Amino acid sequence: MKKYTKITASIGPNCEDRETLIRMISAGVNMCRLNFSHDTGDIQGRKIDMIREISAELNIPVAVMIDLQGPKHRIGNFKTEGKYPLKIGQTFTFDSFDTPGDETRVQLPDAEVLASLKVGDRVLLNDGKIEMQVTSASPTSVETKVIRGTEIWSRRGFNLPDTEISTSVLTKKDRADLEYALTKNPDWVAISFVQKPEDIAEVRDFITERTSAPIKIIAKIERPNAVERITEIAAAADGIMIARGDLAVEVPYAEVPAISRHIIRECRKMNKPVIVATQMLGSMVNSEFPTRAEITDVANTAYLRADSTMTSEETTIGINPVNVIETMYNILAYADADTIANPYDWSRVENIPENDWSRSVASMAYLNKASAIVVFARDTIAAIEISCRKPDIPVIAVCNDSMIANQLCLARGVFPVFSTELFGMRDAFNAARQFHINSGKLVIVDEDKISLRTLD
Ligand code: PEP
Repeated sequence: MKKYTKITASIGPNCEDRETLIRMISAGVNMCRLNFSHDTGDIQGRKIDMIREISAELNIPVAVMIDLQGPKHRIGNFKTEGKYPLKIGQTFTFDSFDTPGDETRVQLPDAEVLASLKVGDRVLLNDGKIEMQVTSASPTSVETKVIRGTEIWSRRGFNLPDTEISTSVLTKKDRADLEYALTKNPDWVAISFVQKPEDIAEVRDFITERTSAPIKIIAKIERPNAVERITEIAAAADGIMIARGDLAVEVPYAEVPAISRHIIRECRKMNKPVIVATQMLGSMVNSEFPTRAEITDVANTAYLRADSTMTSEETTIGINPVNVIETMYNILAYADADTIANPYDWSRVENIPENDWSRSVASMAYLNKASAIVVFARDTIAAIEISCRKPDIPVIAVCNDSMIANQLCLARGVFPVFSTELFGMRDAFNAARQFHINSGKLVIVDEDKISLRTLD
């Protein structure tokens, strides 16, 4: 049996040729992430086409997730290209004036963002290496005190962890990127810098106004206000990504593991798949081997029964992206086998009522020592809900719609089987055999009918 924890791989310059993609998908990639912060339009479109072709050729379902850049904020330019010194305690001003900056001030080009800043808010620049605190604010000029950092220079990105930013979650660029991407029917769309459930509703409206395809939305959690409203955001979205890169800038880094565990638990309760992202095997950008800490981080993601790990730069610009996937696969397969040997006690599932139907499915499988659960997946709901009970046996999803099969690639322990046949008991048995399950009991889920069958 394959590993249960899924792998989402970011696709970029070092792994977007056909040969490398074939090897990565064969090595265990379940979902490809196309990051629209970098390429856009047809360049991404051709990659989507290639992934679809390879998936069909290899007969391996693979999901495509497009990741929209979202509002990434940058300061303006300085008088010269060099670095400008900063002193702790000095005053530094951000304003709306379109003139080059110096050691006392720089333009903050987005007027709405400038106007959102309040006294006391932190401004974090350059991945948090510079910290300033707002001491006085007007709509066109904001004065800060430098708390941390020794130099500043042109076009640095910044984060505003304390500020509710009132701009739309979709920038002009995101709208153009999404408009294009929808013509390629992505399975999942990831939204950056989500702050509230209404952001998800806005994106869903944008999608449904343009296509009837049931494209699913992932909310990237990277802001403190999104962490606070995780339950509502998880309810509004179809899945969650713990975007640890920006999250560790916006919240104190020591809080990231606790926040991640909390989000994984919430997603389990809310029946939403969750991806743990960023720097999982980061050292492999330049190395053939992971660090001990990275091995443990990947394994712990499996032990927490998250749905998916994710690769970032280690596959997009790393020296050996195929080796990264093989390494991640090995770590996950070992941790998953260890987990499966100590199955999850379904009766301890928090806040899931005893009469919940997915809990009944998991309970029936557990008490009867079933070899697998087979779901006739007319949509993604049943298979994902059962996956969220963490039954620690395979959930085989028989699908007759390729988008449903692809979307289910993200759910932990769910193995989609594409079938054009009508759903019948023979399909269930054949699907189990495809995964080398030739004996034992199967729990069969067909809409609201749950039955126990013995394979012979
Ligand atoms: C992150 O911040 O961890 C992340 C996944 O987002 P991005 O790579 O788009 O910055």
